[in-house]
Amino acid sequence: MSSPQTDPKYNPPSFWPKHASVPPPKPVRGTRLTVLGCGTSAGVPLLACKCRVCASKNPRNNRTRASVTIQAGATTFLIDTSPDLRAQALRNEVHWIDSVLFTHPHADHIHGLDDLRNYNYLMARSIPCYGNQWTLDELTERFSYIFNENTQLGGGKPMLTLQLIEKRIKIKGVTVQPLELLHGQMPVLGYRINDVAYITDCSYIPDRTFRYLKGLEVLVLDCLRPAAHTTHLSVETALAFAKKIGAKKTFFTHMGHEIEYKKFARSLPRTMFPAYDGLVVST
Ligand SMILES: [Zn+2]
Ligand SMILES: [Zn+2]
Ligand SMILES: [Zn+2]
Repeated sequence: MSSPQTDPKYNPPSFWPKHASVPPPKPVRGTRLTVLGCGTSAGVPLLACKCRVCASKNPRNNRTRASVTIQAGATTFLIDTSPDLRAQALRNEVHWIDSVLFTHPHADHIHGLDDLRNYNYLMARSIPCYGNQWTLDELTERFSYIFNENTQLGGGKPMLTLQLIEKRIKIKGVTVQPLELLHGQMPVLGYRINDVAYITDCSYIPDRTFRYLKGLEVLVLDCLRPAAHTTHLSVETALAFAKKIGAKKTFFTHMGHEIEYKKFARSLPRTMFPAYDGLVVST
């Protein structure tokens, strides 16, 4: 696998306008997390559902599929490529992605992968994508046209390098700590960057992971719905883990249409909040 630095400069296709290229974003002080989407796999509203959350006029009850960006200094990470990535990137003006960190290869976390090619054009470079072995195997199989060099280029293919992440690494000077989690039976990853941790799609946090969750300013945590679920944290289990971790602020994500924003917000302890699409938190 070649590193992004040594990849030949990516030539944008003929339709890509010359003015559509961007410089890297200005560095931020500390760490800035932007919630691109905080919805469950089907999104909220559900197609054709008439429940009061799906029919709500409050934009905070409108949730695209789960994804965030985390900017640390001058480096921007995208966590997962949701099927809503293009719309999320337009809405939040995400113009630069240094690396993608994948939590796991379920459809709602990877099916926006092809949209990364727009960043190849914008930044004129390839993008490293990190994940566990399950994720890298699934990406290679399900997006064979990207990773098989023999498929024709046509209108352009994303230019990505797949990288296994098993332990703490530095990416462009920023320490990235993968967090081992269980999503039902499946091993998935969360990520800690500085004093911010992102844990979506998880039903259990193993004891060995808690050592990496000390001293957090911000935790984003899975919280699917009030009722128990085999592969996700429910309200009750999410609150229990959030209390045990004790971050200064916890935001819940991957929420379904069973959760009404205002009602849920009122029910939570002082340090806990429902996330919403477009939420920005800085530490
Ligand atoms: Zn999911
Ligand atoms: Zn509904
Ligand atoms: Zn999942």
